[in-house]
Amino acid sequence: MRKAISVALLILLVGGTLVAMQVVEYKSGIIWPEPPVIDPGPQGGVPSDAIVLFDGKSLDPWENGEKWKIEEGVATSAGATITSKQKFGDCQLHVEFATPAEVKGSGQGRGNSGIYLMSRYEVQVLDSYDNTTYFDGQCGAIYKEQPPTVNACRKPGEWQTYDIVFNAPRFNEDGTLQSPGYVTVLHNGILIHNHFELLGATSYTEPAKYAAHAEREPIQIQFHGNPVRFRNIWIRENIKPLMGLSPDPRPNSVETKLPKNLDEVIPKNDK
Ligand code: MG
Repeated sequence: MRKAISVALLILLVGGTLVAMQVVEYKSGIIWPEPPVIDPGPQGGVPSDAIVLFDGKSLDPWENGEKWKIEEGVATSAGATITSKQKFGDCQLHVEFATPAEVKGSGQGRGNSGIYLMSRYEVQVLDSYDNTTYFDGQCGAIYKEQPPTVNACRKPGEWQTYDIVFNAPRFNEDGTLQSPGYVTVLHNGILIHNHFELLGATSYTEPAKYAAHAEREPIQIQFHGNPVRFRNIWIRENIKPLMGLSPDPRPNSVETKLPKNLDEVIPKNDK
């Protein structure tokens, strides 16, 4: 009996080894650079590789920033739209905002502001908590182009977040559109636009259309007559896929054994 158990164990062990030997890990062979280490910061903080556009103390990075009121780490829109002194193209943008706690007005007149990417493409800011307006103009809409997939608004006065991923449009030298812009928006952590293809620059009076502009343009935050509060605004750039070095096309080949002229060895269709 004991012998039979031992034999059974042996078979299991050998079987297990055989199974283990059949598992071959796939490796692409691509030689990747190490992704840079960044400090993501504490919850609600700023990543170490971000450009801070409002740190709670100063709106110096903005034209017209002096017209807004800054109190206790919060900037309140007043007097004019602010325009970033620095220009940006593709980016990740984080903005925190709160529409007025004291509800006044209705429709577009209630807590209206907006994030203008490249000074042209507006992600609407509005108090859309129990406040009906046209859907492609409510909070989170790409204004007059596309409503948000859901209304993820918090109550008036409560802090909300926008996390925006933007791919800028490209234009040919003759001014025609080479590739459209795309925007992805998370509102309070909820995905409300997923790589939406922009139809063109925001307009109140006519259909959106593209007009050629530079690769980098300022960001604007709209003043629309309502005291909307903002805090913790930062942006990240240069978010491009890492480039790896291609592996040798023949698995397990050793470079020192390769003939110098590969064209003589590998038929063209096999490369
Ligand atoms: Mg607006």
